[in-house]
Amino acid sequence: MARIGFIGLGNMGCGMAINLAKAGHDVVAFDLSAAALDRAEGGGCRRSGSAQESATQVDAIITMLPAGGHVAQVHEQTIAGNAAPGTLLIDCSTIDVATAKSVAELAEARGFAMVDAPVSGGIAAANAGTLTFMVGGPGAAFQRAEPILAAMGKAVIHAGGSGAGQAAKICNNMILGSQMIATCEALLLARRLGLDPLRFYDIASQSSGQSWSLTSYCPLPGVGPESPADRNYEGGFAAGLMLKDLKLAVAAAQDANASVPIAANANVLSRRMIAPSTAAAHAATTKANNSAIQGGTP
Ligand code: NAD
Repeated sequence: MARIGFIGLGNMGCGMAINLAKAGHDVVAFDLSAAALDRAEGGGCRRSGSAQESATQVDAIITMLPAGGHVAQVHEQTIAGNAAPGTLLIDCSTIDVATAKSVAELAEARGFAMVDAPVSGGIAAANAGTLTFMVGGPGAAFQRAEPILAAMGKAVIHAGGSGAGQAAKICNNMILGSQMIATCEALLLARRLGLDPLRFYDIASQSSGQSWSLTSYCPLPGVGPESPADRNYEGGFAAGLMLKDLKLAVAAAQDANASVPIAANANVLSRRMIAPSTAAAHAATTKANNSAIQGGTP
């Protein structure tokens, strides 16, 4: 079993760190939030007094942070001066491909092994240990990371060299973001055309309109298996995170000179939905969307 530093114990990281501890790893956990540290400690992780401590004398360091800037900063200020050469660095955050590549390049120049390993699955899967990991990095680093990641997920897939995990993640979520909006639009139109939503669900879920957005995460309350729509849109994969991933996809497409008009539109629509970013405005927007889907006045 390995000694693992875990930095970033938020909605996703805390459950992941606890699953590593449950699998028998010695997890030295750190977060800026005392409440997050309490929860990780309660789940069997060792509470670290500082980020530096969680990076010292460990076999591997996992980061699960909000964005690329946080990852680059933790690497520079915490990992670089404290971790021993040869330490395996695993970044599970969702970040832009360019930062993932530059962080990995610097890490390798400093004698570390590094993989980017973003996840699909959300908070429930992080807690249940059923995430899918998309991993980018050299084969030797992947071989070392695989058994650690396997303790937190149901699938660990090597996508290619450094940055390939992030590339796979944003392309996957580009499908999700576009498909979810198309699903909302189809449910709205079906209603306006006089179709019963349950009857339409029965038809589309067994026809070529079937998708994960429709049959696993249906955006209309009372239709399909339980989803955040049935809990007044609480919990689950937040619209703000979807917007973050769509922005990353559109920016990556610009860098790669790829034409992605549907994703660009999904990005604009998602931004419009969460634009006045107060919780109240967000709640009003989701209610309005729901009302629009159900046939009320949007
Ligand atoms: P979160 O905001 O809940 O957690 C991030 C944590 O990082 C916070 O607890 C914060 O205190 C901590 N943190 C920030 N800077 C730090 C620092 N310098 N040192 C130590 N801790 C620091 O976010 P989350 O929902 O757990 O998401 C984490 C990552 O996973 C993001 O990149 C997100 O895009 C990705 N992701 C999230 C989901 C989801 O459903 N929430 C799904 C897939 C991927």
